Parts: sequence; C-alpha cells; structure tokens
Amino acid sequence: MNIVLFGPPGAGKGTQANNMVKRFSLFKVSTGDLLREEIKNNTNLGTKIKSTVNAGILVSDDIIDDLMTKVLRDKKFYNRLIFDGYPRNLNQAENLDFLTKKYNQKISCVLNLNVDKESIIKRVLGRQICTNCGLIFNEYFNPSTKKNHHCDLKFLDKRPDDNEKIIISRFETYLNKTLPILDFYKEQNLLHQINGMAKIDQIFEEIRGIIGPLEA
Ligand code: AMP
Repeated sequence: MNIVLFGPPGAGKGTQANNMVKRFSLFKVSTGDLLREEIKNNTNLGTKIKSTVNAGILVSDDIIDDLMTKVLRDKKFYNRLIFDGYPRNLNQAENLDFLTKKYNQKISCVLNLNVDKESIIKRVLGRQICTNCGLIFNEYFNPSTKKNHHCDLKFLDKRPDDNEKIIISRFETYLNKTLPILDFYKEQNLLHQINGMAKIDQIFEEIRGIIGPLEA
C-alpha cells in the first residue's frame, strides 16, 4: 500500500509517518526532508531552492516531479510508501497518479489530519527535530525525554522556516494551493478524515484502524 498523509504544516504528518514506518514497515518520503537535505549538502539544487524553501513558498513542480520519479521507480519502495508533504497542488496530485500507474502501483488511501490554525502555529513554533534519529518533538507539548528519545540533546534542531512570520505564509499556501487537492481524492473515494487535535497515540490508533485492514 502507498499512503498520502495530508494536512497543513505542523499537523503532525511527520510524527505519524514515523509511527507508521515503525508499525507497518513502510518507507516515509517527505519532500520537505529531501529538499532540506539538498540545501544542507549545498548541492546545485540546494542552492537553487534555498530561498524558496526558507520563505515557505512551493518549489517548482518540475523539481518535485523529478524527485518523486526517482522514488516511485525504485523497487525497494515498491507499494510501501508514505507520502508526507506531497502532493502539494493539483498538478503534483495528477503527476503522482500518472507515476503510480506508470510504475504499476496505487494510492491506497489519503489521511487528512485536521488541525486548527491556532494549534498549528503553536506546534510549529515549538517543533524540534533530532538530526541524529529523525524523531520529531515539541518543546511545549511533546518534549524529548530519556524515555522517548535516546540521542543526545545537542542533536535537537529547529527548522529555519518554523517561525511566526513564515508559518503564516506556509498556511496561506496550504489553503490556496494544497487544500483543493482534497476534492480530487474525495472523488476517488480515497479520503479519510482524522482528528489531528487528539493526542499523538490516539491519532495513531485511528490511523491503525484505517490502514490495518488495507495491509491484508
Ligand atoms: P515541509 O517539510 O513539508 O513543511 O516543507 C517545507 C518546505 O519545502 C515547503 O514550505 C516548501 O517550500 C518545500 N516543499 C516541500 N514539499 C514540497 C512539495 N511537494 N512541493 C513544493 N514545495 C515543497
């Protein structure tokens, strides 16, 4: 099964994707992570997209389509992908449709994490990412502790685009460009609504209830 995790920035897509990877032996592909990796490694692509990503605007569809073609044609990931932060507009959704068909795969479901704007801002401002293991924490709501995290605290990092000004622009982009995709998936009967305001474990229970039966 391939799954699209949908929702505004800060909805908890990355956190739930990490849980799903562990429980269902799937692979997470986050276009945001792939782009940040290019920036960190100072590649040609990284240099080209740095200001766009840090301003919270979408990078061009051509760049994203190239990245996703490589992922979807890779046999290692065949029908075992969780898409986090992709597709981000109708063009990308249509291209994903094209690529899944071309490489003989399918989207099994789309999980929409519903979270209100006020909570998103709070979550984004507190978000911390472990650069060592990839786990995501929140300094206010879900801090890293000895129990839930084994890496040194020095690895906890903040994203440059997780600030008050840029989150507003990222949210606007989500409303204008990304949200319209929901109708595309609703028409295909793939859409499931999830209460993204619940506790992390409760959200994951809900997700398990939906994707567990798809695994069989
Ligand atoms: P994210 O990590 O998903 O919050 O993405 C961080 C930033 O990376 C976004 O604000 C965009 O600038 C860029 N980005 C991530 N995914 C995409 C995508 N599918 N299409 C275009 N830009 C993207």
